[in-house]
Amino acid sequence: MDVYAISLHNRFRGITVREGVLLRGEAGWGEFCPFADYADDECVPWLASASEAANDGWPAPVRERVEVNTTVPVVPPERAYELVAASGCRTAKVKVADPRAPLAGDCERVAAVRDALGPGGAIRVDANTAWDVDTAVGAIKDLDRAAGGLEYVEQPCPSIGELAAVRRRVDVRIAADESIRRAEDPMKVAVAGAADIAVLKVAPLGGVRRALEVAEACGLPCVVSSAVESSVGLAAGLALAGALPSLDFACGLGTLSLLRGDVSTESLSPVDGYLPVPRVAPEPDLLGDVRADDKVRTWWLDRLGRVSSL
Ligand SMILES: [Mg+2]
Repeated sequence: MDVYAISLHNRFRGITVREGVLLRGEAGWGEFCPFADYADDECVPWLASASEAANDGWPAPVRERVEVNTTVPVVPPERAYELVAASGCRTAKVKVADPRAPLAGDCERVAAVRDALGPGGAIRVDANTAWDVDTAVGAIKDLDRAAGGLEYVEQPCPSIGELAAVRRRVDVRIAADESIRRAEDPMKVAVAGAADIAVLKVAPLGGVRRALEVAEACGLPCVVSSAVESSVGLAAGLALAGALPSLDFACGLGTLSLLRGDVSTESLSPVDGYLPVPRVAPEPDLLGDVRADDKVRTWWLDRLGRVSSL
């Protein structure tokens, strides 16, 4: 067991350092890294996911590699073009609806991404709950036009009811992300007709097997995304993406580049827009470079102890 702390290139969810515990079991390594603002009871599925990786291993995959998207933050259009062109990915996820950036800027960025991808690429946008229903309907129409067609819009509004209302008024597919944080959430989204696509993250759903059950029960096409883990945690996301019976969209698992380091020399960084589906997590042979200091280590081991006892 060891605790890592790795700086992020840019602030994400209000944090600048990603931290977590790596657990070793009979099957390999698992990563326990719920964000610091999560209450202990919310961390229980994260521990189940880490424990599955370490002690049980994952179900056999049905594919050997997974296509991933590149992510375009709120940057000027020229920079967006460069990022996408350099990524090697055929799918780009463009962050939109930043409170400091107008819709016109989002449209220019999305158009630049289309130039970089060409007509065969796919563009999805992520509003991270920013809009109300009317704003979403207008913005989605403008962005769809600027993009020359959007693949989908991720979480345009906060609530499931709002997602359903937007979905009835636009032709672009809606994906639910923030609305899915617990195992029962995808069913609620599906029953409400709130989304065409479910974004699944392994750790908050309690592991690969649990996430596979959730995917089957909700009946929606799924996109697997990371929680910005190290390569050990990303491997669990790839195990899910590798085991889903069908996978129609690129996944959000190419996130290692958000971190300034990794725990392993066998880094899960995309090559030509794809990541391999590993049978076990990579060996964390770089822990010496990213080991957390004593204070951080103590905080995580205390947290792990509390969550283990729940
Ligand atoms: Mg999202």
